[in-house]
Amino acid sequence: MKEYFEKKIQDLQSQSLRRVLKTISSDQGAEVTHDGKKYLNFSSNNYLGLANLALLRQSSIMAIQKYGTGTGASRLITGTMTLHEQLEKEVAQFKDTEAALIFNSGYQANVGIVSAVAEEGDFIFSDELNHASLIDGCRLSKAKTRVYRHVDMLHLEQLLQASLKENQMSTVGKNQKRLIVTDSVFSMEGDIAPLVDIMSLAEKYDAMVLVDEAHATGVLGLTGRGALEHQGVSSRHPRLIQMGTFGKALGSLGAYVCGPQSLIDWLINCARPFVYSTSLPPAVLAANSAALRFVASPETIGGDWRDLRRALDCNRQVLKEKLGVLSHQKNMTLLGGDSPIFALVLGDAERTMQVSQALFQKGIWAGGIRPPTVPKNTARIRLTLMATHTGEHLDRLMECLEEVL
Ligand SMILES: *Cc1c(COP(=O)(O)O)cnc(C)c1O
Repeated sequence: MKEYFEKKIQDLQSQSLRRVLKTISSDQGAEVTHDGKKYLNFSSNNYLGLANLALLRQSSIMAIQKYGTGTGASRLITGTMTLHEQLEKEVAQFKDTEAALIFNSGYQANVGIVSAVAEEGDFIFSDELNHASLIDGCRLSKAKTRVYRHVDMLHLEQLLQASLKENQMSTVGKNQKRLIVTDSVFSMEGDIAPLVDIMSLAEKYDAMVLVDEAHATGVLGLTGRGALEHQGVSSRHPRLIQMGTFGKALGSLGAYVCGPQSLIDWLINCARPFVYSTSLPPAVLAANSAALRFVASPETIGGDWRDLRRALDCNRQVLKEKLGVLSHQKNMTLLGGDSPIFALVLGDAERTMQVSQALFQKGIWAGGIRPPTVPKNTARIRLTLMATHTGEHLDRLMECLEEVL
């Protein structure tokens, strides 16, 4: 076994595809410490810096003191505590939906939702650049998955049309459902799905839509509800299933799904990651509730969400302009910038890793993203912004990028 895996790892290494862990010994700020040295962090999804907010820390500590560290069981056994119920009510209120359900992570939520909603014989329509968790959900469900080109609404419509024909010709029941699944903000590109168009296609072709707001919750939309709010799609849209996570802008861990009560009841019964996993512990639930309160009622003691959002937006505009100029000079493709995610596409995995390593030596933490996370020949440097980056941080990033590239 030892030699077998050594050989497998060597194969990855020779294609510049080997990944290794890098440990951080500080908190998750705009500056982090690794191996005794400081780095500017341009790879975190802790966009607003909430992971370090005193309000969240304090809420977790109090919950541990009152309720302990673990729940001891899955939700349907004895693992449902008042903190779960409370957080679910708060999510439903925040998103203005009938009901909500908490999952232990976004990965588990997507795998659970897609495989519980789409059943054998149904059709799923999935953007080719969707997050791995949505892809795995499609794989686990017994539905027929049709992959459409990235944000290509013409292609999506063609596939929807073809499914209607296939349905008419089918002999095994004519009640097949259609489910469209998409990231709202794409995690490795930073662009935003055309959600208004997707919802109208869903109307036209009688489909449900699952929108993954992992990178948008707390960051996009006038009040931080996400990309649906940003694009003016009502949370109460009758075909809409929304999910999002607590691990990115909201600073802790876990995920939510929201929609009508009947959907939530179905997921409680059939979403296997929900049914068969020990539930989130008090410390995490309390931090999540505090984060939601922080976003929903900006006058909370200990900071103002609107200030953080403004700072993040400001950083985003500055970097968008600077990276625009740089990518033009260097003849490279720049992606993203409508969200706090940017990507400089280099193409070649080896070169991308060399650039990432050279930046690292200069104290800039900017991840090289390679296949299979992104399609072949589209390896890239992914940069994410935080509200807590300063002007000097951005200047230093640009200096280093120019030197290295
Ligand atoms: C990060 C992410 C997830 C997974 O969420 P976790 O809580 O980290 O498991 C799901 N979907 C998208 C689009 C993501 O970016």
